[in-house]
Formats: sequence, C-alpha cells, structure tokens
Amino acid sequence: MSGVVHFVGAGPGAPDLLTLRAARVLAEADVVVWARSLVDPAILEHCRPGTELVPSDDRTHDDVVAIYARAAEEGLRVARVHSGDPSLYGALHEQIVACKALGLPYEIVPGVSSVAAAATALGQELTIPDVSQSLILTRRPTRTSMPSNETIQSLAAHGTTMVLFLSVRRPRELQADLLEGGYAEDTPCAVVYRASWPDEVVLRCPLAELAVAIRGARITTQALVLVGPALQEAPDAGRSHVYDAGYGHRYRPLGRPDRYKKVPRGAA
Ligand code: SAH
Repeated sequence: MSGVVHFVGAGPGAPDLLTLRAARVLAEADVVVWARSLVDPAILEHCRPGTELVPSDDRTHDDVVAIYARAAEEGLRVARVHSGDPSLYGALHEQIVACKALGLPYEIVPGVSSVAAAATALGQELTIPDVSQSLILTRRPTRTSMPSNETIQSLAAHGTTMVLFLSVRRPRELQADLLEGGYAEDTPCAVVYRASWPDEVVLRCPLAELAVAIRGARITTQALVLVGPALQEAPDAGRSHVYDAGYGHRYRPLGRPDRYKKVPRGAA
C-alpha cells in the first residue's frame, strides 16, 4: 500500500466543529502531526489507540518532511492537522511541494475557518446586500513579509469588509494603515479572540478606538480583526434579493407558485 498525507482542517477550536470526514481520516491515520497551540487535543479522541502522535510546534518543516518521507517508504497514512481550514495561512503550499517531490499522494480535508467562527461569535453575516458583497482576507506584514501590491492601505481603499489574520500584535500600526487606506474613523470593527473556544473574547469598537481596545484587552495573538460597514448593527440595511417576493429563480419562478421546484419530503 502506498502512503498518503491528509491535510486536515481541525476547525477553529471547538472539537465538535471538526467535520465527519476529518474524524474518519483521523480514525484511519497511522501518524497524526498536529499543532498544540491552535488545535484542541480533544480531537485526537478520534484516533485509534496506538496511533503515533507528533506535536508539530517544536518541529521544523524539514522534520515534518522526514515523517512524510517515512510515510512514502513504509506506506503510512499521515494526518497533518491544521487549525481552521488548511488552505488559509496554513504553510500548506510548501508541504504540497514536498509531497510532490517525494511522489507521495496528498488530499486536503477542508475545515471550518476561524473567519466563519468569528462571524458566529458576532452573530452576523459578513456580506450584506447593498452594504458589502466582498470579503478581503489578509494580514499585515510582521515577521514575515507581504507581496508589495497587497498593502493594507490599498486593500482598505475598497471600503468593503476586511478580515485580518495574524495582525493583532501591532494594533496602532494596524489602525493607522486602515485609516490611511480610507476607512472612516467611525467604521465598525470587531476583534474576536479564540473564536469558539471556552475563553473566546469579542470586542466591538469604531476604528478610531481599535488599537486602544486591543491593547486594553491584552490581546496579542489568536485573534481576527474584522473591519467594515457590514459589521454595523443596522437592522434595516440590505435585504437579500434571493428571498425577496419580487425576485424569481429556478426553484421559485416569479408569479408561478405552481412551478416551484418540488423538493423531496424531508430534504428541505
Ligand atoms: N487556517 C486557519 C488560520 C491559521 S493562521 C483558519 O482557517 O482559521 C493563524 C491565525 O488565524 C491566528 O493568528 C488568528 O489570526 C487566526 N485564528 C485561528 N484560529 C482562531 C480562532 N479560534 N479565533 C480567532 N482567530 C483565530
């Protein structure tokens, strides 16, 4: 049997936000490599007894690739567990390159990203019709650089909803960049620390107070910053077109209730 690496999204934190597919992959794995800092060890309960468990936080990329090389040689099933969804800021690309170089097949198992968990914590939709229909996921350059055409200022100029990963460590600079890019001082902001964990914290403030709020709460990691007009609590703003009585579509042709598409009983 040939080896395989599954890049598994563990979800944002709460162990019951793991997908059924992820649970099955963990149950079938011979080796599980996981990051202790952002993944609850409770998800390891899905593993079989005797599964080799390797914490990744004190390993380098080369250490992990050595495990993949062993998997290729010995035909092992490896589950490499990432927080949230592996396709976002997961150092996934370099691991895919390594798997390809080893001739080792890989598969990605999606996870619930912290973006979704933050929206859950806020109890809000991030795309509101006629208010904000685009979501920018980005980060500030800190210890690692950013492509020069992706400055916070240039992205902020769109004025749409922005979610910043890995960016709470220098809140004054973050606030200054966002203002410089064109968001008004009263643009609603939220900070969600450890979304879906028992110690989750949610802060809301106007952009002018963002840095003070982050500093005051002593948040320096594991948080998302959300900015933009969709975060305002304006009950009347933006109604969806799809559910509007004057909007027809395939399942609900306008003015023809008799031609509504039939949905099998129990499937709705
Ligand atoms: N792949 C992950 C992101 C990994 S990068 C995802 O899809 O969510 C790590 C950064 O993600 C953290 O610095 C923080 O900005 C954010 N993050 C991850 N889990 C989080 C959580 N539970 N609550 C808030 N932010 C989180």
